Parts: sequence; structure tokens; C-alpha cells
Amino acid sequence: MSPDLLIAVAAMGGLGLFFAAALAVADKKLRVEENPMIGRVHEVLPGANCGACGYAGCYDFAVQVVEGNAACNGCPVGGQDTADEVAAVVGIESVKSVRMVARVLCRGGRKEARNKETAYIGPGGCSVQNIVSGGNKVCIYGCLGGGDCVAACAFNAIYMNGNGLPAVVDEFCTGCGMCAAACPRNIIEIHPIDRDVFVFCKNHDGPKEANVLCDASCIGCGICARKSGGAISMTDNLAIIDYEKLDPETIPFDKCRSGAIGYLPGRAPAREAEMEESREVDLVKKIRPFSTTGRSIRKEPG
Ligand code: SF4
Ligand code: SF4
Repeated sequence: MSPDLLIAVAAMGGLGLFFAAALAVADKKLRVEENPMIGRVHEVLPGANCGACGYAGCYDFAVQVVEGNAACNGCPVGGQDTADEVAAVVGIESVKSVRMVARVLCRGGRKEARNKETAYIGPGGCSVQNIVSGGNKVCIYGCLGGGDCVAACAFNAIYMNGNGLPAVVDEFCTGCGMCAAACPRNIIEIHPIDRDVFVFCKNHDGPKEANVLCDASCIGCGICARKSGGAISMTDNLAIIDYEKLDPETIPFDKCRSGAIGYLPGRAPAREAEMEESREVDLVKKIRPFSTTGRSIRKEPG
């Protein structure tokens, strides 16, 4: 072996040894010991890593809980059981969690929403439809029906119903919010499971347009707001509910022609339920024209 080669091998070996020793010393001196409680909290979390807690994943949430930056009931997927276990590990009193679930705030399905005169032909996903042409429906605020929300749900808690609208299965829904994040029309919101009354529409068009483009749209008339004691305000032609102030007894649900504001199916008191049924019968009987602009109306073909 030539002397030059020997020098090179010795130099590289020496350097290697030097850096290995430096790293070993740095590891000893600079090591930050992890709080073992983090691992124990992490173990009792569901491991979904969905981010519904607002952190990067289950481990990050565990770190934040142990450091006192997140509440023990901050994991919506785990619910009350997980909140109790986390509290036990951290050694604090558990906090009552309100179970949250997804709510679909559009009732403009195939039966109710007017379609454009030219059919959309292209990829079916909602985000693509939204960017390309806004899909088939005239309403630019309504559900596109492509099921991006269904694809986003890791818990099989949402499906497309026969009317082309997503429906949530409360028993499976964890309130993680992945469906809401996937919806390009912001139609899905996460609400406490015991909340009964909603405005099932996101349309901001004026009364004339909204009335024509969908049988289920809020037309911005403001009748529901008038006697609500400030619980309902009209924002850009859409009724918005302040749940802190809402007393459903004061809301004239029967005066809302489209049923845009109302109870969740199966949650209405008897009188409201009857009203809802008769409205559905009316809807089936109705033969409505459709329009691209919401202004010029022509007869539905066939
Ligand atoms: S429907 Fe699925 S994605 Fe949406 S909040 Fe419920 S569990 Fe999460
Ligand atoms: S709710 Fe949103 S994501 Fe789900 S089908 Fe409708 S437009 Fe698509």
C-alpha cells in the first residue's frame, strides 16, 4: 500500500473517531429527557392521527396535554372515555365532553335543486367540479353531490343518500371534521349532537334567484329572524343562528316556505313533524321550471 493511501485512510479514520466521540459527548450533555407521562397519554389515545384535536396528531396532542396546553377532553374521536383516561394519567379531574357530530347544511338534492341547461361531464369529485364549472346545479352554494366528504371520512360515518346528498350516521361519527375540511362548499359543520335546529342552506342569493334555483333554499325573507329575539340574524340573505340565544319555541318554522330552517329529521316536536311531512308531499306534487340564471324560466324537458 502506498504511503499516500495509508495517510488518507488514517486521516479519515481519525476524523470518524473524533466525530463519533463528539456526538457521544453531545448526546450525554444535551439530551432532553422526555416526560414518561407523554408516552402513557399517547397510549390511551385512539391513534387515528386525524388532527381533529387541532394538533399534528395523537403524539403532539399528548405532548400538549402533559404540558398543560390542551384539555384532557380535546380528542373528539376518543370522546368521554378517552377524556377520563387521559385525565387519570395526568392526575387531574376529568372534564365532561360534549359529543360533536357532522351536520350537512344543504337540502338541495336531486329532487329540490334546479340543474343547469348544459350537463357537466367530467371528474365527479366535488373539488374538481367546484373548480371546473360548479357541477350540474344552478346553485353555486349547494352540495355538488360528488362525495368528497364520504371519501374523507375514516369512520364510515357518512354516505350519499338516494337524493344525492350526504347523510351522517351519528353512531359512527366522531366529530373529527375531516368531511367538513374536504367539502369545497363548506356545507358540513361540526355541532353538538343534541343540537336540533339548523338552517339547512348556505345560499346567499337574493329572494328572487334563491326561490327559483332550489325548492329548499333560504330565500332571505327574514321571517324567522323577526320573532327570534336576536337569535337569528340575516347575513347577506341567509339566516344565521346564534345558539346561545335560540329558543325554538319562538321561531315560526311553519312560515318558512322552503323549510330551510327546521329540525333535524326525527327531532321535531309533534306539530313541527306534521308540518314537515305536509311540506314533503307539496314538494313531490310541485312541478317546477328550471333556469340557468335563476331569472329566465323555461319548462323542464320531457
Ligand atoms: S362524518 Fe366522518 S369525517 Fe365527518 S366528522 Fe363524522 S367521523 Fe369525521
Ligand atoms: S357536502 Fe361538500 S364534499 Fe360532500 S358531497 Fe356535498 S359538496 Fe361534496
